[in-house]
Amino acid sequence: MSRSAHPAGPRHADVLPEGHYSAPADDLNALDPKVWAHTVGRDADGVVTVGGIAVTQLAEEYGTPAYILDEADFRDRARAWRTAFGNDADVFYAGKAFLSRAVVRWLHEEGLNLDVCSGGELATALSAGMPAERIAFHGNNKSPEEIERAVRAGVGRIVLDSFQEIVRVAHIAQSLGTRQRVQIRITVGVEAHTHEFIATAHEDQKFGIPLADGQAAEAVRRALQLDGLEVIGIHSHIGSQIFDMSGFEVAAHRVVGLLRDIRDEHGVELPEIDLGGGLGIAYTSDDDPREPHEIAKALTEIVTRECEGARLRTPRISVEPGRAIVGPTAFTLYEVGTVKPLDGLRTYVSVDGGMSDNIRTALYDAEYSVALASRTSDAEPMLVRVVGKHCESGDIVVKDAFLPGDLAPGDLIAVPATGAYCRSMASNYNHVLRPPVVAVRDGAARVIVRRETEDDLLRLDVG
Ligand SMILES: *Cc1c(COP(=O)(O)O)cnc(C)c1O
Repeated sequence: MSRSAHPAGPRHADVLPEGHYSAPADDLNALDPKVWAHTVGRDADGVVTVGGIAVTQLAEEYGTPAYILDEADFRDRARAWRTAFGNDADVFYAGKAFLSRAVVRWLHEEGLNLDVCSGGELATALSAGMPAERIAFHGNNKSPEEIERAVRAGVGRIVLDSFQEIVRVAHIAQSLGTRQRVQIRITVGVEAHTHEFIATAHEDQKFGIPLADGQAAEAVRRALQLDGLEVIGIHSHIGSQIFDMSGFEVAAHRVVGLLRDIRDEHGVELPEIDLGGGLGIAYTSDDDPREPHEIAKALTEIVTRECEGARLRTPRISVEPGRAIVGPTAFTLYEVGTVKPLDGLRTYVSVDGGMSDNIRTALYDAEYSVALASRTSDAEPMLVRVVGKHCESGDIVVKDAFLPGDLAPGDLIAVPATGAYCRSMASNYNHVLRPPVVAVRDGAARVIVRRETEDDLLRLDVG
């Protein structure tokens, strides 16, 4: 990524401060289709619209801040993943990216499966009618109660994450008179984030059982002996926001190596491998994600080739995209409250939300883009930092971006690609109320997760 541009025409600085930003786009009113949901555009008055509805109308009806989700786009992306992998593979949407009952229904209708990683996510999935056999239960410390609920519900698989859990799940399944289908999550010594991956020494993390030192092989050995378990495969998840497929290549090579060792030792060919999620999306115009069909082709080829090399039948592949499905489908709509130019530095734009509705910037130094949404403007670009209303100077939503120089209180601005890990990680910091999620489709909008109220807050506070 080229991140050292020297844009012309900033309003408040002759020399721009250091930062991670590109030159302002030639036209600040343009909406790069890479970072915006499919149905986003501008109407004749220059107002941003989604699903045929103007954001000014959405703000009036539902207030700000609000997450605005393009339902048609969500379904399109879910279907694209499903179609790309076809009938010989399974796509599990990673619920932790964003989960609600409406989303569960859309996934069900579009033929996807679902990953959950807590009792709460499991309850949401079941209450919206996702068939239990299409649910995978994840997590590095599932409680005995959660395991029991999952086994009783009949989830399609539990992904085992430790030696203790192998025994725990086996005992619970056996005591319930059943045999639970499980995968064993291993760490293959690959960690991938964005454009790089590192192929050594990344077993130093809480998830999975290390392949190194024969630990993963030992886990399989133990699991195969337990009556309560049916071991169906091996699971590997190597990171997040990944663009480069070479990390998956190394991971697949190592997972298949383990499958071969298992065949040689136990005479069984495990029927499934799960390569996890982590596929990247465009947060800014500098990001170039791959299409699901390219990813499916690459992963299938890698696994097939590796299995041929090991003379194994090609197992059924599953993948677990979260961000790549929901991330691009939503934007956060904010109202500008204050505009504070700091000479020689940048202009601070305060919005009516912040780190409580988007913690990713503070947590991961994530990059976002932003656009003036309630109108267009021909004013010169100004370098801005979009900040929230919280009592914390790290409360930043968009670290470096350009907005028109005539930006004023009352304007609506929109931050795209906030569908993943924003609402699902939202907090009540400063007793700020979590925003609603409004789904828009074909000219109609509806709230799928309502705005939190002060009554909601006070109800929890039992004095
Ligand atoms: C987080 C996670 C995913 C989804 O990651 P994305 O980056 O949202 O695609 C998939 N599988 C597992 C095991 C995860 O922990």
